[in-house]
Amino acid sequence: MNYDIRDISLAAQGKRRIAWAAQHMPVLSQLSAEFAAERSFEGKRIAAALHITTETAVLLLALRAGGAEVALCASNPLSTKDDVCAALVEEGISVYAFYDEDIETYGRHIEQALACDPHLVMDDGADLIVALHQRAESGSTIAAIEETTTGVIRARALAEQKLLRFPVVAVNDAPTKHYFDNRYGTGQNTIDGILRATNTLLAGATLVVAGYGWCGRGVAARARGMGARVIVCEVNATRALEAVMDGFQVLPMLQAAELGDIFVTVTGIAGVIRGEHFQRMKDGAILANSGHFNVEIDIAALADSASERAQVREHLEEYRMPDGRKLYLLAQGRLVGQVAAEASPAAIMDLSFADQALCTRYLLQEYQHLTPDVHDVPAAIDERVAALKLRALGIELDSLNEQQEVYARSWQLGTVS
Ligand code: SAH
Repeated sequence: MNYDIRDISLAAQGKRRIAWAAQHMPVLSQLSAEFAAERSFEGKRIAAALHITTETAVLLLALRAGGAEVALCASNPLSTKDDVCAALVEEGISVYAFYDEDIETYGRHIEQALACDPHLVMDDGADLIVALHQRAESGSTIAAIEETTTGVIRARALAEQKLLRFPVVAVNDAPTKHYFDNRYGTGQNTIDGILRATNTLLAGATLVVAGYGWCGRGVAARARGMGARVIVCEVNATRALEAVMDGFQVLPMLQAAELGDIFVTVTGIAGVIRGEHFQRMKDGAILANSGHFNVEIDIAALADSASERAQVREHLEEYRMPDGRKLYLLAQGRLVGQVAAEASPAAIMDLSFADQALCTRYLLQEYQHLTPDVHDVPAAIDERVAALKLRALGIELDSLNEQQEVYARSWQLGTVS
C-alpha cells in the first residue's frame, strides 16, 4: 500500500466524520449501492486531485465500491483533512496529502498520484490534467473530469490550442453543479469562513464582492441576508447589469476600495485587489478570497507595502501599513470557505459528486465516441441527479398530461388557433 499522509492513527475519527457526511448524501449513497452491484469500475484506475474532505471521501468510497483502484492527492494544500486521509488509506485508497504541505510536496504528491498510470483523472483546478500534458505522453489516461470553474477554463485553453489529448467532462458546467455548489455552497461557506476567522459582525458592514458569477451571486445574496451593504465589482457588462437589478451597488474596485469593510474575490482572475487598492482601503479592512487559487489578492504587493506583520488569530493575519493602517488577510489568500470553514456542506456536494460519479461511469464506457475536447455533462445525468435529490427530499413534481405534451411539441397552436 502506497501513501504519504500525516497520521494513520486518525483513521477512526475520520471514519466517524465521513459517516456523518454520508448521512447527508443520499443520492451518492444510492449510486454507491448501484456501482457495488454492477462492479462498474472493475479493473479501472482513477487518480483524483480534490479537496480532501469528508464529502470527497464519500465519493471516492462509492468509486471503490464499484471496484475502482483510487489514488488521491490534494487540490489545495490547506483544505486537506488529515483524519479523512487516514480513514481513506484504511479503506484501501492511496492518499498522498497532508494539511499545510508546502508547494514542493504538493507537486510531488501530484506525481505520486499519477504514478498509478490512471485510466481516468478527476480534477478540481486541472492540476492533474495539466501535469499529464506537460509530459511527452499521458500513458493509459483516456479521459478526465473537471469539477470547478478555474479548471474548466484551463482545460478549454488546452482544447483551443489543440493540445488536449483526451475528452474532459466539465462537471462544473452542469446545472446540478453550479446552480447549487457555486451559488449556495460557496455562498454559504465563504461567509462561514469569514465569520470563523474574524467573528466580525456583518450587519451594517460594507462587503465588496469582486466577481458576479455563480459564486459571487451566492456570496452577495447571503451577505445581504445578514444585513451587510453589498457592493459588486465586475468586468462583464451583462453580469454588472444583473447585479444592479438584483439591487446591489456596482462600482469599480478603485472606488469600492475606499468604502469596504470586507472584501471577497470570486473571479478566477489574478491581481483583482492590488497595490493601488490597498493604498485606499480603510483601517481594519478584511481581505478574503473565495476563487480557486491564491492569486486574486496580490499578496506579494501587500507584503511589500506592509511595515509589519502579525498572526492575530488562526487564519487571520495583520498587515500594518507605514501610515499606521492595518489590513487583515484571511487564510493566506486561499479559498476562505475551504480553509477557515469546512467547504460546501454534504447536502450540496451530494449533487456535485453524484454528477462526478455518474460521469466517471459514462466516460469509462463512452470515451471512444468523444473527441479530445471539453464536453458537457449529458443532460440525462443532470436530470437524473436532480430527480434523485428531489426524491430523497420527499418532494414530488407535477408532470405533463397527454394534451400538454401535444401542446408543448406543436408549432400550429398559437394566438388564433
Ligand atoms: N470559485 C473557484 C472554485 C474553486 S474550489 C473557481 O472558480 O475555481 C471550489 C470547488 O471545491 C468547487 O467546485 C466545489 O465543488 C469544491 N468543493 C466545495 N466543497 C467541497 C467539499 N466539501 N468537498 C470537496 N470539494 C468541495
